[in-house]
This record gives sequence, structure tokens and C-alpha cells, in this order.
Amino acid sequence: MDQNLVPVLDEVNAFLRKEHGLLVDGASVAAAAGGRIEVRNPATGQVIASVADADAADVDTVVASAHRAFTSGAWSGLRPADRERILLKLADVLEAHAEELAQLETLNQGKSIHISRAIEVGAAIEYVRYMAGWATKITGETMDVSIPVPQGARYTAYTRREPVGVVAGIVPWNFPLMIAIWKLIPALAAGCTIVLKPSTETPLTALRLGELALEAGIPPGVVNVLTGRGSRAGQALASHPLVSKVTFTGSTEVGKTVGHAALDNMARFSLELGGKNPMLVFGDVDVDKAIQGAMMGGFLNQGQVCAAASRIYIHRSKFDQVVEGLAAAASSMTIGAGMDLNAQINPLVSARQQQSVCRYIDIARAEGARVLSGGQAADLPGYFVQPTVLSNVDHRSTVVREEIFGPVLVAMPFDSMDEAVHLANDTPYGLAASVWSNDLSLVMNVVPKIQAGTVWVNSHIPLDPNMPFGGHKQSGVGREFGRAALESFTELKSVCIAH
Ligand code: NAD
Repeated sequence: MDQNLVPVLDEVNAFLRKEHGLLVDGASVAAAAGGRIEVRNPATGQVIASVADADAADVDTVVASAHRAFTSGAWSGLRPADRERILLKLADVLEAHAEELAQLETLNQGKSIHISRAIEVGAAIEYVRYMAGWATKITGETMDVSIPVPQGARYTAYTRREPVGVVAGIVPWNFPLMIAIWKLIPALAAGCTIVLKPSTETPLTALRLGELALEAGIPPGVVNVLTGRGSRAGQALASHPLVSKVTFTGSTEVGKTVGHAALDNMARFSLELGGKNPMLVFGDVDVDKAIQGAMMGGFLNQGQVCAAASRIYIHRSKFDQVVEGLAAAASSMTIGAGMDLNAQINPLVSARQQQSVCRYIDIARAEGARVLSGGQAADLPGYFVQPTVLSNVDHRSTVVREEIFGPVLVAMPFDSMDEAVHLANDTPYGLAASVWSNDLSLVMNVVPKIQAGTVWVNSHIPLDPNMPFGGHKQSGVGREFGRAALESFTELKSVCIAH
């Protein structure tokens, strides 16, 4: 037995063996047509479980469950303090099952068990506790108004924030549990009910989350989980007339389809989409810090991070040093399964994603890039790609323009602050960016000029539940986290009282 391999818990093996249905009204229900989807372990390519493959008829059933639960007031009618208490209980329940959830995620998504424990589960639990607190802090405003008729009448107006109704939460495969939680908890804090639709590749932790929500005391029907294909179940969910809000995280292409479908019903929507995020390394920065930052920002979760640092712009005075250091660090990374405690680079989520990333590396070569490290799939049974550093790329080349969503860094030099800002912004995306410098006036000059929803200085990637997160331009519409997230699950009602 390999000492570095984490032994799989019995409860994880038992969960994998279960005949998973859709979670509807608190019960597991088979898809009406009986379809199944196989779930694979990306480290081996082997099938480890199967889930129900919902179609449009199933979507009707699941949404009806969420709608009944909403209109019954079983959740929205609770005192805010009771919703808060139950959500805090959910955090405790998740914590009690933390290792089980982390292992399930690593076996299904491929990522390092360290990342599953610390981020997918650990940070997500912090998020639950943070957001639970908003349930008791939903407020409106009172307004003095000047309505002139009838003469002598007096009015007082105020606003109320009311839960929007049934929410569709559509989740990608890169952080399946954490992003499901980002959608679930503010919706519940606001008093909504929800249908969670995980990705076809990574449905397992969402199903377990639904079960644990019941265990925490959330009434049946408030949290429903719909497994199925995006083009069928996802599309039917986004366009369902009983859905009042769609919160989607995924690719820009699919996000636009989802946004159109929501708009057709005048459902509210928020879209967290792709990114092609620049990291600007100025000349005064310590080379080792810049290398460390790019490795963390670019290779975390094998680069399958919407906010990953993928375009590394380095001041020409430090370019060679940083790029050589990056190539050396990338070449020395240990490649292996997520359950291997020593592995630093783990498999991508699927064979399709592995092929897509390798195709981008081939395009880069054909467009004249130099491959300084990696550059191909690893010679292992699963969906591994070597950590890759590219230089000598043209600003207009495909790997600089398009989101790769894999362990590929593209390094380019710049000569001036204006050029760095221009290169950073010359992209269809605007999710995140980082600026690396200790020159205060330079930093304060650059930050307002960057077109991105989040700008980090001297770090890349940290997210906090209290910091709004979302995109400019093709990276999306709306914000997650903080008060902004909570309010996006409410309708604003004006009340005007004559007295
Ligand atoms: P995807 O767009 O292919 O799928 C996302 C989800 O949408 C999945 O659950 C999928 O089943 C569903 N879906 C697919 N087609 C649909 C349709 N027609 N109607 C409704 N739902 C549909 O994205 P992905 O490949 O799972 O994830 C990777 C993408 O997600 C990347 O582009 C990445 O940048 C983005 N992402 C963004 C953020 C962010 O916060 N901005 C976070 C993580 C991932």
C-alpha cells in the first residue's frame, strides 16, 4: 500500500455504490425515462458511480417541488433568525462530513485532496457561516416623499426586500461543491428555494450536499438536485417558467444561452463566466515572489480556475529571470492522482478537457510559441497534462486570446506601465487581474485602469465571502459574495402608506 495515497473512507465507497436519483421533495427519485450518466475518476479514467440523466419532464417535477416548497412558506415564512440558525447547523453538518466530502470531490473531479480539504470544503464552510449571517440583516429603507395629491395628504414610503422565488443554480465542474454552495446559501438566506444543477462530469458532491441539507433541518423541497446534461436538463431548467432567478457559473458561450432563456421569462439572472486573467509583474518586484505568485495563480487546480493567472506580463528588466524560474519550477512539479499527498499536479477533469488543453498547446507551437516546460499530456492512465510555460507568443495569438482552462502559462514582456495596462485590457474578458509592485503611486495609478471585477495587488486568487466577485465585459453579469449576492436573490418592493 502506497503510504502517500489517502485511504478511501467506507462512507465514500458506500456513497459511490448508491443508485443515485434526482433529489426531489427530500427523496431520491429515478429519472422518468430511466436514463443514467456514468461518473469517472479522472486519475484513472474508470467509472466510479452513475447518476440519473434528467430530461424536460423530470425538470418539471423538480421545479414543481421547489415551487410548492416556496409557496408553502415552509422556508420563506420562517423567522430570519431560524433560517440563520439552520444554515449554521448546515455548516456544522458539513464540517462533520468534511473528509468524506473532500474525498468524494477528489475522486470525482481529480483535484488534490489538499485543495479539496482546504478550499472546496474548508473555505466553502466559512462561506456558509458568513452568508448565514445575512439572513438576519436583510433591510429596506424608509423614504420621505413629496406626493402632492390630494392636497394635505401625507405619505410615508419604505422598501422591502422579498425572496425572489424559485432559483435555478447551474454549476460548472471546476469547484463543484464550493460553487454549488456559493449559489445555495445566499438563495436560502434570502428565503428562496432552489434547484441545483451540477455539471455532468461532477455531480456527486451536490447530491451529498442535498442530503446533508435535509439532515441539517432544511425542509424537503427547499433544496432539490437535478442531475442531467446541460443541453437538455440545464436548458429546460434555465427556461422553466416557474424559475424566478437563474444563477449560472460556466463558460461565456453557454452563459449567453442561459441568459437569453432567463430573459424570455423575465427571470432575474446572474452569470459568472470565463476569464483570461492578466498578472502584471513590474520591475521592482522580487523575482522569487513573482514566480511563486504565478505558480499559485496559474497552476492551482491545474489552471481550471476562472480567475487563474493565465497571461503573465513581466517587465522586460526581469523577464528572463522570471520566465526561467517559472519553467524550472513547473518542470519540477510532481504529477499524480489527487489522492496522492505528494502530487502537485493532478489530472484535468475529463478526457475532453485534456484533449482541449493539448490542442491549445499544439496551436501555440504552430503559431510560433516556445515551449519552456511541459507541452503535452503526461504518460499516465488518467487525464493528466504537464504544467506548461510558453513564451515568444504574439499578443494576437490564440493562446493569448482564448481561455485554456488548464495548466498553461503564457509569458510576455512589457516596457512601460501604459503598455502593461493596454495589454491587460486588450481582451474580451474582465474577470480578475493582479498587479505586482511595491511602488505605491504606480499601483494606485494602475488599479483604476484595469477592466476587471477583481484586482489583487501582490497576490493572485484569494477570494473572501465579503468581497463581491464577478466579471466585466464577457466575464459576466452580476456579483456573487457579500451583500450584493444576497440582494440578487430578492425583489425590491416599494410600499407607500397614506396617513
Ligand atoms: P459549461 O458552460 O460547459 O457548463 C456549466 C454548467 O452549465 C454545467 O452544469 C452544464 O451542464 C450546464 N449547461 C451546459 N449547457 C447548458 C445549456 N444549454 N443550458 C443550461 N445549462 C447548460 O462550463 P464548464 O465547462 O462546466 O466550466 C468551465 C467554464 O466555467 C470556464 O469557462 C470557466 O471560466 C467558467 N467558470 C467561471 C467561474 C466564475 O466565477 N466566473 C467559476 C468557475 C468556472
